[in-house]
Amino acid sequence: MNDITKIDWQTEASRLTLRGEAFIDGKRVPSLSGVAFDCINPATGGLLTKVAACDAADVDRAVKSARAAFDDGRWSGKSPAERKAVMLRLADLIRANLTELALLDSLDMGKLVNDAATVDVPGSAAIFQWYGEAIDKLYDEIAPTEPGNLAMIRREPLGVVGAVIPWNFPLDMATWKCAPALAVGNSVVLKPAEQSPLSALRLAELAIEAGLPEGVLNVVPGFGEVTGKALGLHPDVDCITFTGSTEVGKMFLTYSGQSNMKQVWLECGGKSPNLIFADCENLDAAADMAAFGIFFNQGEVCSANSRLYVEKSIAEVFLAKLVERVGRYTPGNPLDPTATMGAIVDENQTRRIMGFIDEGRKTARLVAGGERVSVDGKGCFVQPTIFVDVGHNDRLMREEIFGPVLAVSTFETEDEAVALANDTIYGLAASVWTANLSRAHRLSAKLKAGTVSVNTVDALSPMTPFGGFKQSGIGRDLSLHAFDKFSGLKTVWIRY
Ligand code: NAP
Ligand code: MG
Repeated sequence: MNDITKIDWQTEASRLTLRGEAFIDGKRVPSLSGVAFDCINPATGGLLTKVAACDAADVDRAVKSARAAFDDGRWSGKSPAERKAVMLRLADLIRANLTELALLDSLDMGKLVNDAATVDVPGSAAIFQWYGEAIDKLYDEIAPTEPGNLAMIRREPLGVVGAVIPWNFPLDMATWKCAPALAVGNSVVLKPAEQSPLSALRLAELAIEAGLPEGVLNVVPGFGEVTGKALGLHPDVDCITFTGSTEVGKMFLTYSGQSNMKQVWLECGGKSPNLIFADCENLDAAADMAAFGIFFNQGEVCSANSRLYVEKSIAEVFLAKLVERVGRYTPGNPLDPTATMGAIVDENQTRRIMGFIDEGRKTARLVAGGERVSVDGKGCFVQPTIFVDVGHNDRLMREEIFGPVLAVSTFETEDEAVALANDTIYGLAASVWTANLSRAHRLSAKLKAGTVSVNTVDALSPMTPFGGFKQSGIGRDLSLHAFDKFSGLKTVWIRY
């Protein structure tokens, strides 16, 4: 394992060779049209490399490769133990290439290289390992039929899985989709976000090095309306697994209906509430985590705790503690390991966030941040920002901003807190801070969220499912339950 404190990131970055060709049938290839687009570092505005703009013809080529690989069994037909060995080698290779992978995500989308190296890359390796280890520990079922009958319930891989992912955790989102899909024997065609294609492309190369046969994992970078849509509409894709906005998630349901009724699994947006009760045992810890819950990764986290509700009797005290913590998150050069907040993914997203802030100034009270800043005179950076007295129907309280902007309000009773928390189209995550065990159980039952964290925020692990209720999505990532998305049940009934 690399000692990351000894890495000189700036020097390592200057030594990197960045490659933007697609990865199809085990090889780096330009797009068939020859068109490539600019891949920009949002921390500097500089061009990193040109990336293949794949269109429907490239997607078709990738799907054909994936289908051929699936049908001839070069991966789908391997024994669980053989697939496991490849997955475990891939986990090791991700660890061995930690410096490069961390840099790719940091340069591509502006996250702190330190976070990429301590959270994202180790997380990716851990998940490939976890699913690799799970493969040969899954048993199928036998149904309790009458004597003289044997009804087996088997899980089978679906075939070709199309994965479409966002830019906030590029390597990890690719991993969350690919690891379980590959583990059960599917082939995958992955479309990374246009802002952050580089780590997914590198992952595909490492997978080949680990022994994954050619054609089993293909990566087609490009634009959502072209590449993503072509995958969504492709008649030979069996399943789409998507992470991204609710708006685009709905499009995939439409694409499916317009084409082959492929299964569609969606991890979409959120506007997750964090409820602080007066009986919270440790307000300092709650304030630490409330800040982390909205400012980590520049707030570009689907399950970010972007709505904070504080019980009125402690609101003033708690808010003072929270504002004190804002200084722990200061925009800086993402490659500087002492920096505490990175760049926003691109110019568009930065403008979008600033639009919310500028509108918020008119309706709510700004108590921290609120400005766009530059670092070394360049880049897309936004200060950690807190608004208080935010009205329940304000856009600040309603819409997913996907940036470092926290909307704060107060409540007086538990019922009011639950009503405020649940009055949203989303249902991804919720947090509750209380020392009252009964309240913790009551609320975890009443809150409509895929994950309810009590006395922490945004609890997450490979062992627990992640995903949302309502318009936060359909299906779950992570844990053994992710296998449900990537396999179909087959009944085989034998009369004897
Ligand atoms: P997005 O705009 O929905 O994009 C997600 C992916 O869909 C990208 O690869 C995108 O390609 C593609 N896409 C865009 N338009 C498309 C279209 N018309 N047809 C087919 N594909 C299309 O989301 P984003 O801005 O990248 O990411 C932020 C969103 O992701 C937030 O809403 C956040 O909550 C959500 N998210 C959810 C989770 C979760 O697990 N629930 C996790 C992380 C993020 P381009 O890159 O070319 O636009
Ligand atoms: Mg986008």
